[in-house]
Amino acid sequence: MPKAATKPVLSVYDAMEDLREATIKSTSTPGVADAARRAIDRLNELYAEDRAAFTAEDVRFANVLRGMLGSRLAAHGPKVVHVRKLKRKGDKLDHCWRCKTPVDERFTDNCPTCSAKEYTWRVCPVCCACGCQRAGTVLI
Ligand SMILES: [Zn+2]
Ligand SMILES: [Zn+2]
Repeated sequence: MPKAATKPVLSVYDAMEDLREATIKSTSTPGVADAARRAIDRLNELYAEDRAAFTAEDVRFANVLRGMLGSRLAAHGPKVVHVRKLKRKGDKLDHCWRCKTPVDERFTDNCPTCSAKEYTWRVCPVCCACGCQRAGTVLI
């Protein structure tokens, strides 16, 4: 029993390390995106299995890394001038809460999972954040 209980914790640690490494490399190495994707998927799986294996700090840090990763990978793309979108009713921010990308014409997708009649969450095109992470439905 104790062995089984410690395993998820180690897996969380390993997956967090993989994401951290990928985020560090993402400034110089766009090719790290695949490894990053695997670490993100793994972390989300672990979170879905047992969210108690994650401390509040894990959750916070994983989201910080995910935001940085998105911005850094996007920075490798061509430089394009984006058109800002006006704040909608209910929008508290004019940028992505996680990666700070200003809301612009690329923010076209809404998330059906975390949106309600009162408020529609957009999905950030840079880091894929919506309201699901804020609500704790998914980790990152
Ligand atoms: Zn974002
Ligand atoms: Zn969502």
